[in-house]
Amino acid sequence: MIPYSKQKIFKDDIDSVTKILKSDYLTQGPVVIDFENAVKSYVNVDHAVAVNSATSGLHIACLSLGLSKGDIVWTSPISFVASANCALYCNASIDFVDIDQKTFNISIEALILKLENAKKQKKLPKIVIPVHMAGQSSDMEKLFSLSKKYGFKIIEDASHAIGGEYKSNKIGSCKYSDACVFSFHPVKIITTFEGGIVTTNSKEMGSQMAALRSHGIVTNGFKDKSDGPWYYEQQSLGFNYRMSEVEAALGLSQLKKLDRFIKKRNKLAINYNMLFKNIDFIDTPEVLNTNLSTFHLYVIRFKDENPEHRNYIFKKMRDEGYFVNIHYIPIYRQPYYAKLGFNKKDFPNAEKYYLQAISIPLHPDITRKEQQKIVKMITTPKGNQAIF
Ligand SMILES: *Cc1c(COP(=O)(O)O)cnc(C)c1O
Repeated sequence: MIPYSKQKIFKDDIDSVTKILKSDYLTQGPVVIDFENAVKSYVNVDHAVAVNSATSGLHIACLSLGLSKGDIVWTSPISFVASANCALYCNASIDFVDIDQKTFNISIEALILKLENAKKQKKLPKIVIPVHMAGQSSDMEKLFSLSKKYGFKIIEDASHAIGGEYKSNKIGSCKYSDACVFSFHPVKIITTFEGGIVTTNSKEMGSQMAALRSHGIVTNGFKDKSDGPWYYEQQSLGFNYRMSEVEAALGLSQLKKLDRFIKKRNKLAINYNMLFKNIDFIDTPEVLNTNLSTFHLYVIRFKDENPEHRNYIFKKMRDEGYFVNIHYIPIYRQPYYAKLGFNKKDFPNAEKYYLQAISIPLHPDITRKEQQKIVKMITTPKGNQAIF
């Protein structure tokens, strides 16, 4: 089976994990701090809080911005459900902004229109969560200036995007956002088994999130007088969202390969672009010149708005052992969200995208030969009849 994406583990990754198994600490300890420091210096940011998943990271980032009942969060509908669930965890309400047809990221034009309407109705969002789809940054400079104009905060869902760049800054530097969340799930660019990290330049958010990931407990900056050297305080209602030492050790080791992985993914993407070049019924992904994409996903689009051809190719590839996928089912279509009363008609670009897109295999172990085979499968008409 050839998946759309997967981890690549080297011997030194395995060694770094087994070393921890023989050490004193198994869960959050000195290696987690080392990993946080390594990510901080890699993306050039002041604070990093490692957690057990990007989902947890999104949750505590929202909490540290004070998100609660009565507040509103906006995100992109073409994302994994976690981008929206974090708002509901905080009892806030959620809404979606349609996507840009080219980048599949949040559409700035749609956002401006929605903000203008929301302002009139006094229903402006407290937080906007742009999703860097497939590893390509959203238009952060524009988002940032809108955030100043309309008074919202920004959390980047950069689950796909560690190692990517926007206007020569590494994604995660938070130059244009309050916080940025990465995922280290095995299908993403580098892995820590499960895991995630939140970056921020706010000292206050950094220390709040560090407490929230471990029950809201702090070991300094006490509100009451210390009872003795054993003393600790729970100052907020936190969770057990800690990253383990084993996970952090794998992350540290994988981080060393990150640039290599991204180079390889970009090379493979360029090769796919070339192989699809003369295929008139398919659009290949576009990367804007402000961006270095990580190519977590390679999403092609069938130009036909009738999904029949795309669906046929999907089934054919799955049948032959290629685990292609569709990223994503628009979140508002999920039964849990549909009952909140969303209307498909409000998201024409996302709807169109959903009928046309397919993610084909792209990860460091794909060979050029496999790419040729994949492209051939996609572009060969059904049987001998060119029915499409
Ligand atoms: C994978 C993913 C998440 C969740 O990441 P976990 O680490 O599995 O919690 C959130 N948002 C997006 C866009 C993702 O792709």
